[in-house]
Amino acid sequence: MMTDNLFLKIINKQIPAKIAYEDDLCLAFHDINPQAPVHVLIIPKKVIRTHEDIADADRDVLGHLHLVAAKLAKQLGLEEGYRLIVNCKEQAGQTVPHLHMHLLGGRDLTWPPG
Ligand code: AMP
Repeated sequence: MMTDNLFLKIINKQIPAKIAYEDDLCLAFHDINPQAPVHVLIIPKKVIRTHEDIADADRDVLGHLHLVAAKLAKQLGLEEGYRLIVNCKEQAGQTVPHLHMHLLGGRDLTWPPG
């Protein structure tokens, strides 16, 4: 996992991103290396390093990420279905040390994942 929090730089607009949605609690932007026709990352503005680090105090923000994901899925035309993924730590493939939810859709997604 990288040491630098790249996504904090996107939140702070130090690095550009194609933003799909933003509010006080979260930011959603299109993945730079999309794995499906729709691939959006939804992140809390609060720095939470990994899913393992979530706390009771994060309950509202985590619920909010799901509500935003459902709204974006509708807006982006994913009525056939979509997948939400949170990779936690290196073995699961997490590369950026800032909790993020992948919203993937627009094609058939196989199971089990790699
Ligand atoms: P993960 O592997 O779960 O940590 O996901 C990190 C994701 O961030 C990958 O899908 C990358 O393609 C994506 N990513 C890395 N840098 C950027 C960037 N500057 N803008 C948008 N997405 C990025």
